[in-house]
Amino acid sequence: MLKKLFQSFRPPVPGQHHRRTTPEVINKSQHSLQRHQFSRHAVNIVERLQSAGYQAYLVGGCVRDLMLGITPKDFDVATSATPEQVRAEFRNARIIGRRFKLVHVHFGREIIEVATFRAPHSDEDQGDSHRSSHNASGRILRDNVYGTLEEDAQRRDFTINALYYDPVSERILDYANGVHDVRNRLLRLIGDPTHRYQEDPVRMLRAVRFAAKLNFGIEKHTVQPIRELAPLLREIPPARLFEESLKLFLSGQGAIAFEMLVDLQLFEPLFPASAQALDERPTYTHTLISQALNNTDLRVKQGKPVTPAFLFAALLWPALPARVLHLQNQGVPPIPAMNGAAHDLIAEQCQRIAIPKRFTLPIREIWDMQERLPRRSGKRADQLLDNPRFRAGYDFLLLRESAGEETDDLGQWWTDYQDAHDSERREMIRELGSRDDASTGAGPRKRKRSTSKRKRAGDEAGE
Ligand code: ATP
Ligand code: MG
Repeated sequence: MLKKLFQSFRPPVPGQHHRRTTPEVINKSQHSLQRHQFSRHAVNIVERLQSAGYQAYLVGGCVRDLMLGITPKDFDVATSATPEQVRAEFRNARIIGRRFKLVHVHFGREIIEVATFRAPHSDEDQGDSHRSSHNASGRILRDNVYGTLEEDAQRRDFTINALYYDPVSERILDYANGVHDVRNRLLRLIGDPTHRYQEDPVRMLRAVRFAAKLNFGIEKHTVQPIRELAPLLREIPPARLFEESLKLFLSGQGAIAFEMLVDLQLFEPLFPASAQALDERPTYTHTLISQALNNTDLRVKQGKPVTPAFLFAALLWPALPARVLHLQNQGVPPIPAMNGAAHDLIAEQCQRIAIPKRFTLPIREIWDMQERLPRRSGKRADQLLDNPRFRAGYDFLLLRESAGEETDDLGQWWTDYQDAHDSERREMIRELGSRDDASTGAGPRKRKRSTSKRKRAGDEAGE
């Protein structure tokens, strides 16, 4: 599978693929796109900008996806008008972004992104740090140097993302042989790959995302520098990596994306602790994460909601035991050790990927549930069932079991308990009472804990 993804379908022809100054023009009769397939609002924007005397096109993912028979997620417009000029044309427009200024035009719930043509960065622009700036490793920090349509095509990432559709003439303009690459299902960076990754290391993640989502191969020169340049991701602001990781894992092809990230050594800079767990316990860690992503992919395909918290809980879980053990070896009791390890692991992860609070809290709750699910005696089982996190905690337990964790069939017990009538439930709880470890958690704690200890654990779990 991976072999196929990385295969090169034809030898690259340097110079020919990139840097066309005149585009290949694909007329209406030579392609399958139809104007009505695009968002009516996006087409209206293009028409209005064109009648105001600007150049304007639909561009990027929407053109690419429609050529592949995929429903686009959003519609992007590229224009010669500056953000201020665009805003002046539309009542419902807002300028957003600093690193990359663009205009959001709102139509009810639909937002169309309108970007001004950008030029690739040249050395002359460096003096004007308001418009353009790089850091020492060549990363673009600000990108507001406007340019021509030809230049705009050259600064885009992949050839298949640099196709411009004019809904008025219904022609496609292709400056980078993107149509050829769409037809051959090949992802190819425009320009020199090493340079383009240095400018923006997130392009390495975008390569994986598009290869996974579109089931495309990555052209060999495009894939070649990735392993060596992967550490550059450590310089990317964690908030951007959060957005990007959601796109990688929640787009319906997360399991494949994970395989590719690991293979291209991009997983380590994103999830250092999990990568270490993957080294130390490869089979278990790999199974648990893949299984979580497979479930997520299935839910996405079925149109069911997915929560990033569950996914991050799974991605980080294999890194927990080593930390818990470390704290326990320092004399910290089991439950505080678990809480301490969870807290530290999440704090450390947020240095790379800024997981917002609204997700880190549920991650903690899902993990806490793993401590509580084994303790079912008395009224506890029913209280747990009423807990709003029960479902996520239970699903997580099943996930752990599917990766081979030993839980004494706890998942099956909970499955049965949910199906059981009141009287059967009471019987199930009574049966537990006859087993000595029934009220304690699985794992290292075997002896029954005293009331005072239990109380302390409860307090901590509720912190
Ligand atoms: P999708 O919206 O399906 O995720 P997309 O290709 O539309 O895919 P966007 O992130 O919406 O991706 O970006 C729109 C377009 O902007 C891209 O198609 C590409 O041409 C350009 N682009 C986006 N990010 C970069 C980047 N980091 N470097 C160069 N060009 C980029
Ligand atoms: Mg898009």
